[in-house]
Amino acid sequence: MFLKGKSAIVTGSTSGIGLACARALAHAGASVMINGFGDADAIEKERQELEALSGARALYSAADMGDGAAIAAMVETAHAELGGPDIVINNAGIQHVSPVEDFPVEKWNAILAINLSSVFHMMQHVVPLMKAKQWGRIISTASAHSLIASPNKSAYVAAKHGVAGLTKTVALETAQHGITVNAISPGYVWTPLVEKQIPDTMATRGLTREQVINDVLLAAQPTKQFVTVDQVAAMALYLCRDEASAITGANMSLDGGWTAQ
Ligand code: NAD
Repeated sequence: MFLKGKSAIVTGSTSGIGLACARALAHAGASVMINGFGDADAIEKERQELEALSGARALYSAADMGDGAAIAAMVETAHAELGGPDIVINNAGIQHVSPVEDFPVEKWNAILAINLSSVFHMMQHVVPLMKAKQWGRIISTASAHSLIASPNKSAYVAAKHGVAGLTKTVALETAQHGITVNAISPGYVWTPLVEKQIPDTMATRGLTREQVINDVLLAAQPTKQFVTVDQVAAMALYLCRDEASAITGANMSLDGGWTAQ
């Protein structure tokens, strides 16, 4: 319970990596504001489970990470209701795959807004609050695509490279205020989203489940193992510890060796 008394915001935490991070923070005693889209009953159930895990409050915000004003209001509510925030995990993200010449402009704008500008808006609002306490942890879920590219992912790769640069810049600006700013860059993570793609790919390409996993999904991941959401959450939790206070401006790869190639 090393985070007892601390409060956290985790964006995009109604599923996948963000949900695992919210649970890990609550398990360590933090009060948590979760965020993202999904079924209202399922979100309320999760919120109650987080309170049971932490013994502290958990709140839900429906703020759209593509909307700077909504992010400002979310931080204001978190500050008023939970204090802090001491910890922010910028995790909400979307993807669209298309060659650059066909890439829909509205998809480009949405990916840049949700995956990159949301991190800027969040930092702008939470850094003064963290400076006031001389303690803070800002962690952004970037991606292996913050370090390398793949074809047909122009907006995603541009946004994630942007997150890596923004992380370094704000780490330098806050280095003497007890605040660390880091990115976590997973390779292919096993989420329900990935699992659901397997039957379709098996059918359309005439492949077995093993072939889809090894030759399609994990083609670039040398371990031939998916990263798990719990592994990403464990890294985020480590970065919140006082032992991690010297780690700032870093981009932590959890990619089974992908970016070593
Ligand atoms: P996911 O689709 O399971 O979760 C995304 C979350 O973001 C959901 O809670 C969703 O409701 C929320 N979200 C989407 N748009 C939003 C918006 N406009 N406002 C607020 N919330 C919004 O995806 P995931 O795989 O858990 O991905 C989480 C993060 O990890 C993303 O930034 C993604 O780019 C990154 N990532 C994922 C992988 C992977 O293989 N799954 C690999 C590297 C990086």
